[in-house]
Parts: sequence; structure tokens; C-alpha cells
Amino acid sequence: MIAIDGGLRRLQGRGACLKGKIVVAGPCSVESEAQMMEIALRLGKLGISALRGGIWKPRTRPGSFQGVGELGLPWLKAAGKAAKVPVACEVAQPSHVDACLENGIDVLWLGARTTVNPFSVQALADRLRGVDVTVMVKNPINPDIELWIGAIERLRRAGVTRIVGIHRGFSTARQTVYRNEPIWRIPMELRRRMPEIPLLCDPSHMAGSIELIRPLAQEAMDHLYDGLMIEVHPHPAKALSDCDQQVTPARLRSLLASLKPKKEITNEPEYVSRVFGLRKEIDGLDRQLVDCLARRMEIVREISHYKRKHGVSTFQPRRWRAILKDRVRHGVTHELDPYFVHHLFEYIHEEAIRWQEQETGTAASKSARRKSGSRVR
Ligand code: PEP
Ligand code: MN
Repeated sequence: MIAIDGGLRRLQGRGACLKGKIVVAGPCSVESEAQMMEIALRLGKLGISALRGGIWKPRTRPGSFQGVGELGLPWLKAAGKAAKVPVACEVAQPSHVDACLENGIDVLWLGARTTVNPFSVQALADRLRGVDVTVMVKNPINPDIELWIGAIERLRRAGVTRIVGIHRGFSTARQTVYRNEPIWRIPMELRRRMPEIPLLCDPSHMAGSIELIRPLAQEAMDHLYDGLMIEVHPHPAKALSDCDQQVTPARLRSLLASLKPKKEITNEPEYVSRVFGLRKEIDGLDRQLVDCLARRMEIVREISHYKRKHGVSTFQPRRWRAILKDRVRHGVTHELDPYFVHHLFEYIHEEAIRWQEQETGTAASKSARRKSGSRVR
């Protein structure tokens, strides 16, 4: 279980609608005093941990709704007060931090378009120096874990102690059903490298449409996330931003009720005895996998000796096509996903080529190997 520090434990404790979890909910944008009061009172009854609302909207294109600006901060605060919930707002510039603190905003967050830019993050960190506030950091727009970790480190160095990560998915060139592809291995890596940072999932910005929010939120529960940030609007169709992905409070209630949080371990005797045995088997197989890969690389090295001697290219397009076809077909007979087998062998092949090029000693391949080594932390 991830340790949740002081301020966050307070938020976690409030998450009555999803036991033991933090639930930050509210509209994409603060639009009016009445909208905020209506949504706050309805969400307050659900027992959410904090009420969110964007004041300055970092929209991709100019001309779309840019947020109401500072005048909306008192509406957000008053709504939170009436519903007895802390309030959260996105900050992208030092002046936003000042305005939020002057208006008593309890939790700040850095959006994906801010985390991506170390200049902006540093400017915010400098302004937050010596300030006692919880700061949530969304993943950067592009799938780059170092930018996410870098933003957290900049805040830490400025003395911010209560930091939460928010996984909102990534913009990629791939066509998927998501507005922002989850790429779960990136937040998993954040968890591995910064296990003390509580992690929320924002299925709204991942999904981009309301039908995908529930399965994504359940996946986050399966991955032991500490909670969720979900966009909720009293009248989603009329929302001034992100209208396709905002749910009503009623839908949020049923969505949260349908989620099944998972535990990391259990002492059930059947689980303990069966899983212990099966894991032992996996450990043995993984070792065999590594042994096989090592032997494969030794053979590759031997082949590369003959290739060099006879002036033959390291890359063999026809052989590579045949390998891929054969391995994918073989994988399918064992019910392995062809996409998975394809990528696995692409990776193995890339490494084999790198080994061979290292043998021939090209400067570029040597530095590439050094770089790949330094990526493992
Ligand atoms: C938001 O939370 O409304 C927002 C703009 O999100 P993101 O930074 O994830 O795009
Ligand atoms: Mn939004």
C-alpha cells in the first residue's frame, strides 16, 4: 500500500464514495457561480474528496473558451465551502499560483501542457517555494516518463512535500479509441521509481467520451491507483469545454458504485498456496527466457564474425521477414497475441543488430548502447 502523507490522508479519508480512495470530481471549467454551487452541492452529497474546476483553460486552439479567469476563483471556493469539500484548480503560470493562494484554493495541479515544459514547471516550483499546499502533477502530453519525474523533482526541490501524480494518458501518433492513450507501463514505471507518490487516474481525459470512462477507472483500480479525477458537469451537453467526456453527478454515482477496488495481497490459504507455487514456476521460466536470450545473442555474435569476414550486411531483410512470419505464426498456435509476438521479436532483433554493430564498432551504435544502458534505473 502506498503511504499517503498528511494532507492527502485527509483527502483520502473523505473519499466516502469509493472507500479508501481519493476522488477528485468537478467540471472541466468553472463557468458560472450558479454552475459551481449546483455541482458542488450534488457532489458533496456523494462524499467526494475534492472539487475540481479549471479557471484558466490551456486550449489547443485560440478562439475556444479560455476559462473565466480569476473572477471564477471565489465561485470555486464558495462552492467548496458550501459543500464542505476542499477545492482544486489547475495552475500554469506563477500568477495563477498567487491568485489561487489568495483565494484559499486547497489543492493545485499542473496540467499535461505544463508538465511537458521544464521552464514552466520551474517557474511554478520557484513560486511555490515555502508554500504549504498539495500539488498534483499530470503526466506530460507526450509519453516521456523523465519529464513527469522531472516535474515532481523540481517541485520537491522547491520544498513541496505533498505531491500526487495524475495519469491522464498520452498523445501519440497511433490511432486508438482513446483521446489520450493510457500506455499503462509509464505510470507503472513511475510507481516503480517513485513508490511514495500517490497516483490518481483521470479516465475522463484518457477516454474523451463517456462510455470509456468506467472501464478505464476499473483498470486503474486493478492497478491499485490511489484514486480518480473525473470531470463532472451538471449539464454536460452545455459544457463550455470537454462536453463529450463530462458525466452528470448521477452517472458519477453509479459509475463509482460499480467499481471494484482491488487489494495487493490476501492471506486466503488457497490464494497463498496456489499463487506461491505458480510464481515459483514463473520465476523459473523467466530465468530460462533470459538464458535463451543470452544464448541467442552469443550465436548472433558468432554469425556477425562470419558476416564481417565475408562482407555481408548485418541487416538481412529477407531473413528478418521470414523470422517474423514464422515466430508470429508459432505464437498464434500457442494463443499468443500476434501484435505482442511481433513487438517482442522486433525488440530482440533490434538488440541483435546493435550487438553486431557494436562488434563492427560503429561509433553511433556504441553510443546507442551506452544510452540504452543508462535508461535502466
Ligand atoms: C483538465 O484537467 O481540464 C485539463 C486541461 O487536463 P489535461 O491537462 O490533462 O489536458
Ligand atoms: Mn478538461
